[in-house]
Amino acid sequence: KGALMAGKRGLIMGVANDRSIAWGIAAACAAQGAELAFTYQGEALEKRIKPLAASVGADLVVPCDVAEDASIDAAFAAVAERWEHLDFLVHAIGYADKQFLRGQYIDTPRDAFLQALDISCFSFTAVARRAVAMMRPGAALLTLSYLGAERVTPHYNVMGIAKAGLEASVRYLAADLGGRNIRVNAISAGPIKTLAASGIGDFRYILRWNQYNSPLRRNVTIEDVGGAGLYLLSDLASGVTGEVHHVDCGYHVVGMKNPDAPDI
Ligand code: NAD
Repeated sequence: KGALMAGKRGLIMGVANDRSIAWGIAAACAAQGAELAFTYQGEALEKRIKPLAASVGADLVVPCDVAEDASIDAAFAAVAERWEHLDFLVHAIGYADKQFLRGQYIDTPRDAFLQALDISCFSFTAVARRAVAMMRPGAALLTLSYLGAERVTPHYNVMGIAKAGLEASVRYLAADLGGRNIRVNAISAGPIKTLAASGIGDFRYILRWNQYNSPLRRNVTIEDVGGAGLYLLSDLASGVTGEVHHVDCGYHVVGMKNPDAPDI
């Protein structure tokens, strides 16, 4: 067990189960001595999160629905009651009605657009504002994005627009908070089979495409993302802010299909 995160306290938002990307990052930080707290959405998830939190020595586990300001306020109030300060925050939250994560983007109605942008994009800014009120110089925030923010990927549709806004938020928040020596970064992760990903049309095809065509010829794991998250949240990345760091087995550099890839 290392000590890269010894003495640091972090709030992890977005663990649904042990396949969640947030869990990969939490486990990597806990293994380096971080003290963690968790938020979860909805009562149904509580009994799943509590044992996971306990397995990394955390007992501060609070509900938070990022679609509700009062819920965000209550969650941060509960954290502030136990902790005087916060050193890092992980935002691994996204949602769009899966009815619109297939077919054409042009068919997205206003209410589905606003909900996806609210939960997947604005919520990072909303939680950042509460978090920085508890943060000291040297603190760091991290969110999760996907290549669909930069390029058109099948079925990602309105989530691509939300992630583009999220990546721009990372840059504006980095500028807002840099003077206080608080860093803000994102990881653009390759596709991983999680609960959220299962809502995306043809996800198994996307996984195989990335496996056959990425330079490393495999898909990323939550441990891969966890390692990169640990780096960005730790003092090793003290000079890194406003960055969108790809953790995708190199897929984003590829311009054409691998000629040796099998048919899928
Ligand atoms: P996941 O289903 O494990 O996590 C998504 C989380 O979002 C869940 O914990 C869910 O409870 C939470 N959430 C949704 N709506 C919420 C709300 N209103 N309030 C509070 N929490 C809410 O899936 P994941 O793949 O680990 O997703 C984490 C992040 O990673 C998301 O932002 C996702 O877009 C991003 N991401 C995922 C992939 C992938 O292929 N899985 C790739 C790149 C980026």
